Amino acid sequence: RAKKSGGNRVEPFQPAFRMAVSDRLQLESDLRRAIERRELSMVYQPIVRLDDAEIAGFEALMRWDHPKRGNVPPSEFIQLAENSNFISELGLFALERATSDLSNWLIQTGDIPFFVSINVSSAQLVNSNLADDVRRVLNQAGCPASRIKLELTETVVMDNPEQSRLVLDKLHDIGVSLALDDFGAGYSSLGYLTRYPFDTIKIDKMLVNDQSDKRDVLLRSVISMAAEMGMTLVAEGIETEDDAEMLGQMGCHYGQSYHFGPPIGTDAVLKILKERFPLTRTG
Ligand code: C2E
Ligand code: MG
Ligand code: MG
Ligand code: MG
Repeated sequence: RAKKSGGNRVEPFQPAFRMAVSDRLQLESDLRRAIERRELSMVYQPIVRLDDAEIAGFEALMRWDHPKRGNVPPSEFIQLAENSNFISELGLFALERATSDLSNWLIQTGDIPFFVSINVSSAQLVNSNLADDVRRVLNQAGCPASRIKLELTETVVMDNPEQSRLVLDKLHDIGVSLALDDFGAGYSSLGYLTRYPFDTIKIDKMLVNDQSDKRDVLLRSVISMAAEMGMTLVAEGIETEDDAEMLGQMGCHYGQSYHFGPPIGTDAVLKILKERFPLTRTG
């Protein structure tokens, strides 16, 4: 269905693959302009320790509020950017914005221990000099590398095994943490865990909310294996307090889901940090 805009009515978003070519091209040029004009934004979802519900970090998630279409889901516009070769600009925007936000929070809260997780897409790893970008952006913002986690999905690694190896080793040397995102949603080859310098696994919400009676066995073995390898575990999409407790008992360290808190803006993050850590606050 093509858009027939009546006045200021916001059209429900059509997935790009179902759009007419002309609409798609329009959306593409809109996105290009949105990047140039810095009209994209980042929201931050809390990542919470399962044993005491303390906030450990935030995942930076990109948002695009299109003037006519309203909120376009990142799964859509990121793929659009990947297909039309400006994902590097988009990725750089995410890095710059997230580190600059982090830097402000650090200045205003003192030395509170928390990290910021940033998603990295496949094209970023292949086409740009990701490690150099990360180093430069961290310097610009004055953020220690240890505060940053980069999230990559296994398809990123699968599609570019060699290049991934090189870049991930460089990133590891810089000192950023590396998370394997959406674990359990695809192939989940355990080989990635030994051959690449990941220190964190994010268990996908699909596995966390699997309805099969083998779910608990699967979760328990993934968690104990990863924990034995010294890795940090984050479970995505936990929906109930029972599941939070069970995952915690299995040895999963963190949870990230609507149950613990939705993605929020920078001011809300600052407020939470100040409330949660009143004593360590210096600023
Ligand atoms: P992701 O990295 O796996 O991020 C987690 C997604 O799960 C986010 O969706 C988040 O809002 C959603 N989520 C959080 N808690 C729950 C829950 O309890 N239930 C359910 N059903 N979902 C939950 P979002 O923000 O729509 O992002 C979707 C995907 O888009 C991300 O998946 C990531 O792959 C990609 N993405 C988002 N921002 C960026 C970015 O800045 N750069 C890149 N390259 N990719 C991004
Ligand atoms: Mg992620
Ligand atoms: Mg994920
Ligand atoms: Mg996901």
